Parts: sequence; C-alpha cells; structure tokens
Amino acid sequence: MNANRSIVSIVKGSDADRMVEEALEHLGGVDSLFEPGATVVIKPNAGHVYPPESAVNTSPEVVRAAIKALRKGNPREIIVAEASAIGCDTMECLEASGIKKAAEEAGADRIIDIKSETDLVDIPIPGARSDIKEVKLPRFLVDADFIVNLPIFKSHVSMVFSCALKNIKGVVQDMVHGLMHFTDLPAAMMDLWSVIDVDLTIADLVRPMEGFGPHCGTPVDFGCVVAGADPVALDATACRMVGLDTGKVDYFKAAIERGMGNVDEELIEIRGNTIEEVHKPIYLPYLEGFGAWPEYEIYAENACSTCQGLIAYTMVRMQAFGEYDRNAGAQIVIGRKKGIPKELRPGKDLILVGDCLKPLKKKIEKAGGECLFAVGCPPLELFPYWALRDRVDQPRPEMLADEDLREKVRIEVEDENARFLTWLRKREV
Ligand code: SF4
Repeated sequence: MNANRSIVSIVKGSDADRMVEEALEHLGGVDSLFEPGATVVIKPNAGHVYPPESAVNTSPEVVRAAIKALRKGNPREIIVAEASAIGCDTMECLEASGIKKAAEEAGADRIIDIKSETDLVDIPIPGARSDIKEVKLPRFLVDADFIVNLPIFKSHVSMVFSCALKNIKGVVQDMVHGLMHFTDLPAAMMDLWSVIDVDLTIADLVRPMEGFGPHCGTPVDFGCVVAGADPVALDATACRMVGLDTGKVDYFKAAIERGMGNVDEELIEIRGNTIEEVHKPIYLPYLEGFGAWPEYEIYAENACSTCQGLIAYTMVRMQAFGEYDRNAGAQIVIGRKKGIPKELRPGKDLILVGDCLKPLKKKIEKAGGECLFAVGCPPLELFPYWALRDRVDQPRPEMLADEDLREKVRIEVEDENARFLTWLRKREV
C-alpha cells in the first residue's frame, strides 16, 4: 500500500445521508465497492454506555446513513457488529448510543454482540510485534465479503486520538482486548490489523470529541464525513483536519513500520472538500501524556483509558480552579496493582482512584497506613477532583445520606462546569 497513493474523501455538510453517499461517490461509488449478494459487516464505535449527544460513540445518523448507502450495492446481508469496552455490555452500549435503533430503522439484517459469539476462529499473527501472537475472531467476521469500519474521531488518553485504526480493537473479545492493554498497544493494534481485512473506513467527524476523551470530552460541531480504504491515510487526514501533528503521534510510527498505509501528504489524494476548507483545530490535550503534570506523582500502569482520561481531566480542572499548586506533591494511583508499589507513601497525600484498587486500599490499611479513595468503575467524573481538593474519600458519606445536599452540589457543579468550559476555550485561544 505504501508505494501507491491512497485516496481519502472529505465531505462537509449537514445531512449525514448525503455526506456519506457523496463520500462513497468520490471513492468510485458503492457499486465499485463489493459484488451484489455480498455479506457486509459494519463495525461502529459503540464501546460505552453513553447517549448520542456525548460523542463517545459513532453517531446514529452516520450509522443509519452508511447502512442506507451500502444497501444500494445490493448486499445479501448487512450486519452491524461490536464488542464494547471491557466491563461494558455491548447491547446496552448499542441501545444507549442510539446505534441499535438507527441500524434497525435503516434495515440492518443482524446486530451482533461479538463478545457473545461462540463460533470463533483462531488466527495466528505471523511476525507479531506485540505479545499478542494470535487472536480469536468471530467466524462471521472472518467470512465477511466486505468489512466497513465506522469510527468516530475523538480525543483518547492512551493514543492521543481515536479514529480508524483504534476502532478495530473492538472486534476482539475481552480476554484479547485486555491483553492488548498490557502489551505495546500501538504494536498490538497493528498486529490485529495485519490479520483482518477491513475494506473501507467511513469516519464520523460530524461532531467529533475534543478534550478529555474517551469519555469526559466535549463534542464539537465539525460537520464532516471522511472515507477511504487506507485507515492510516484516513487517520492522518483527520488529524490534519483537526490540527493535530501526525509526527507527534506514536502510533503512526508503528503503522508506517508495518507498512499499514500512508501518512505522508504527498501520498494521499484528497477528494471532495480540501483539508484547508474544513480545517478547524480542536483541543486534544494528550500529546505530553502524564508528563504534562510533573508536580504530581501519577501511577497509571494497567489502568483503563477511562480512568487515565479522568485523571487528565482532574489535573486540568485543578489548574482551572487554582487548586493545582496547592495540591502539588500528591500521589494518584489508578489501575490494578498486585502489591503495594514501594514508591507509595501512605497518608492523606495518597489518592487511590477506582474500584480495582480496593484490594490495594485494604492492604495499605492492614499495614497500618492511610489513603484516600474514590469509589467507582470508573468513578464519577468529579470524585478524583473532590478527593484531591477536599482530602476526603469519595463519595462523602453525607452526600449519600442527604438529598438536599446532593441537589445543592448538583447546582454548584453545573455552574462550575460552565466556568470550566469557558476557561478551556480561553486557554485554547
Ligand atoms: S476502576 Fe478504572 S482502571 Fe479500574 S477497572 Fe474500572 S475503569 Fe479500569
């Protein structure tokens, strides 16, 4: 693929049906994509239980538009399939995101939870660069004639951003998914891509997510659909559209090393709208990783991206409200830990975030130490912030007991959230 130019189409507009159809026309039209009678599998991003307006999952409008457009190629069957994030119920995610309803209305023949599939095929990964040496993929996916990747573009704490390449991680069941996070994730993603034939990506940049993705971000009105067969070229193009320097994103290096596609602008032919016509920088805060907050000790090994994003959100919120310097020196721990990391210093400066650290809390307390704890998997958005600011466990017992207090806090939070958004916007300028 590297030796050839990749084609990526960009369509700006407000009508998802028209945008998807036009994006496919720029690639030669739906009739050029697959033979009539083909089995088409569509893989949206429906990894978490969030509503359509959150921009956490692919928008139902784009899913509906894709099914309608692909239906015009007279496939035998259109299947919508997803394996949600670890700990999430796929069908619940598809329902909450509006994707299930949109897919049914547009005439999808089947909607499949990949996690529930039992007919799996063992696929070895020749020349694997990560610890993932083989994957189990559902037979219907391996046998599909045409696979369509349907991601949303969003800020992502583990990968800086998530779009075409990252979305395909959702074709494996929880065990491999978990292993991917415990190895070199970009290399593991490329390993997975090397054994799955994805034919086309249609990316949702209608309302992509900026800020503290993958779950605490803010949707941005962007109004674009981007399509192409080369996922690397598509991701690189999407990055250029939103003002992200591809040279600073590690996983493009992994993709180039594996010959997965083109990043170089010279090797990408843009059709439809130009990048300049649609260019609009969005706030993607993860290029520096946790190194952006050197005044804090953040232990994030083995943590899900949800909790990592939460800590990034907490740090920036502390900066916004003048709490950052006051709390400098605190130790924040997320993700499963087998023992008590020797660097930790128990006390009120040690904050454990998330239910998977309950055993660590018990161990510390059994050893006579003290720590603060934010409950939840993941904890509520403001729990780590409150735990740091107020140095009390979250949720506070009085909050659980007092409905009036909860209402008072809800109003305060609404006001504070509005001020936080204003602060973020000013900071970006
Ligand atoms: S608490 Fe956070 S890091 Fe732990 S399992 Fe839940 S989401 Fe993952």
